[in-house]
Amino acid sequence: MTARPTNPPDPVRVRRARRAMLWTALVVLLLVAQSLLVWLTLAYESSRLQEEAENVATDAATEVRRELLLAMQNLQAGDEWGIDARRHPGLLRLELRDAERRLVRAWDSPMETPLFQYLPRASLETDVEVACALARRTASPAFSRSYYVPLASGRGIEVIDLCVPWRADGREAGVRVATFGLGRLLEGPAAARGASRYELSFVEGDGTRLARAGRERGRGTYVADRVLDLPGSAVTLRADNSRGRPSLIPNLTVALVLGLSLALFALLLLLARDMRRRSEAERALAEALSFRKAMEDSLITGLRARDLEGRITYANPAFCAMTGFSPEELRTYPPPYWPPEHVGEYQQRQALRLDLNQHGTESREGFETVFMRRSGERFPVMIYEAPLVDSEGRHAGWMSAVVDASAQRRVEELSRQQQDRLQASARLATVGEMASLISHELNQPLAAIASYASGSLNLLQDGFDAQADRAMLEQALSRIAEQAERAGRVIKSVHDFVRRRQQHHEAVRCDVLIDGVLPLVRLQARKSGTRVEVDLPDPVPRVQGDRTMLEQVLLNLTRNGIQAMEAATAPEARELVVRVRAVAPQQVRLSVIDRGPGIGPEVAARLFTPFFTTRTEGMGLGLSLCRTVIEQHGGTLEFGPPEDGTAGTEFRFTLAGPRQAEPASAASAAAVSP
Ligand code: ADP
Repeated sequence: MTARPTNPPDPVRVRRARRAMLWTALVVLLLVAQSLLVWLTLAYESSRLQEEAENVATDAATEVRRELLLAMQNLQAGDEWGIDARRHPGLLRLELRDAERRLVRAWDSPMETPLFQYLPRASLETDVEVACALARRTASPAFSRSYYVPLASGRGIEVIDLCVPWRADGREAGVRVATFGLGRLLEGPAAARGASRYELSFVEGDGTRLARAGRERGRGTYVADRVLDLPGSAVTLRADNSRGRPSLIPNLTVALVLGLSLALFALLLLLARDMRRRSEAERALAEALSFRKAMEDSLITGLRARDLEGRITYANPAFCAMTGFSPEELRTYPPPYWPPEHVGEYQQRQALRLDLNQHGTESREGFETVFMRRSGERFPVMIYEAPLVDSEGRHAGWMSAVVDASAQRRVEELSRQQQDRLQASARLATVGEMASLISHELNQPLAAIASYASGSLNLLQDGFDAQADRAMLEQALSRIAEQAERAGRVIKSVHDFVRRRQQHHEAVRCDVLIDGVLPLVRLQARKSGTRVEVDLPDPVPRVQGDRTMLEQVLLNLTRNGIQAMEAATAPEARELVVRVRAVAPQQVRLSVIDRGPGIGPEVAARLFTPFFTTRTEGMGLGLSLCRTVIEQHGGTLEFGPPEDGTAGTEFRFTLAGPRQAEPASAASAAAVSP
């Protein structure tokens, strides 16, 4: 049997489950604590109310008992009619009966309806008889059981009788019977302070209520019974609270406890929400950090951060790979990638740059410098630097993007070499095309030289007359010198054109530019009888560019114009205009205008395609080269009918004027720091 490999638990899920468990436990704990608290509060409330009921019952029983016993003492004392009804509100009637229980005299409380009006009492109730018999036997007062007396009003009253033996002249003469209304007896205690919310009643053993007092009805929840132990009888007094069991919010205490618990719970929820937000923010921060790290690691541009002393505080993997040093090695000062021969210079430059930057003149333009790899190889880099500002807005250092420029330099060098070769070939091609013209042009001075030389020779051979021939010989020799100079000029113009190789941008005046090619242009123009006109404004504007390349463009365009007119324009109409105009500040337009047949749409569509030509001896490279050169200078080469409305073709391009002199500080700042 092979054991199934178990997947390691997902830490995020484990963390979540643990958190959920924690929260559940916390909520349960809180609920239990709350319930317990509420239960305890309710239990306390109940026991307090029960205790109050017990106290009320005890007080009421004591009061009733005191009342009855006081009445009993008064009756025993003798003068039964001396009883003040107001002092004994419970006493309703007094009877004096003889030994045979016959009524001798009766007294009814003036404060109540007479008791036995509705049902007159001739003889005593059995219960009263029993009590009286007991009283006589024991020669001490005795109470009867309570009984009900119907009244005239239709209602009735529960009463209790007290029998006190009456003796006259030392022998038993009869009994005094005092009747007490049970309800009346309770009124005093019910009005007492603390009993206002209680119903007081006398009850029988089975719970039957005999009489009651109190403003409110009891609810039967908080009940206390007291047995009133009277001589000969016993009644139960009951105190019953009018309030039921406390509801959930019975009073301020419970409400307070509940309110506090709820507030605690709400606080807990708020705390949980705050924690959730905090953990979300932490997660977002962690994600942002890992995203940033992934981004920095995937960059091929080197990144380095430096403090204000110029020490490296951070370098990304691309920077380490570029220099070949580890982040720890890079922290040393001076940095290991500074070529030793430049350390002093770089330190000076860095100090200067920091100083400039601290005075708010930092430059965001990139600058070029040379670094050294671990292998010792020097390589060019482009650095773009920006200030590092900490969270409190303080300038804490510098962040630089470092680009290894060696590959770019190689490509540039290659392209420059190709461009050079292309130009050289184009120049040679031009010269090749012009070879016949040049030989023709050289022919004339050479023929003149030959004829002057042979003339001079003849003069010398035919008997030289020093007087007569000297002047002629001198003239012939000076003509020879002139013609040789002329031939030399032709050769020099071709030589200059072919040999010019330096390639750099400079500010050059347009007339100088045109003069550079004019001898060759005129050479060709003369052959076809074309007039060449140079139209320059005053002052002559200057342009920024590579003189050799721009001359090549002018030569190609003028040559094309002359050739176009050779084929299709009458000799007297052949005219080539080279025009210069300043079209905007720092913008100069150069045009080459011919009076040829113009360019048809088919030719126009393929005009700049390399090797496209309509001439049998053409190479089709001229215009494509022209366009490349003009675009390299930031311009565009256009063509169309001449703007003055005449027939022919106009090729025009715009060049920028010379650059403004840059402020010395900015220029040095851009070039100083390593
Ligand atoms: P090439 O001069 O060797 O033919 P170019 O690239 O200089 O090569 O010119 C390509 C073609 O463009 C020419 O063969 C010619 O048909 C046409 N062309 C150039 N300039 C003019 C012009 N000024 N007028 C008419 N056609 C022209």
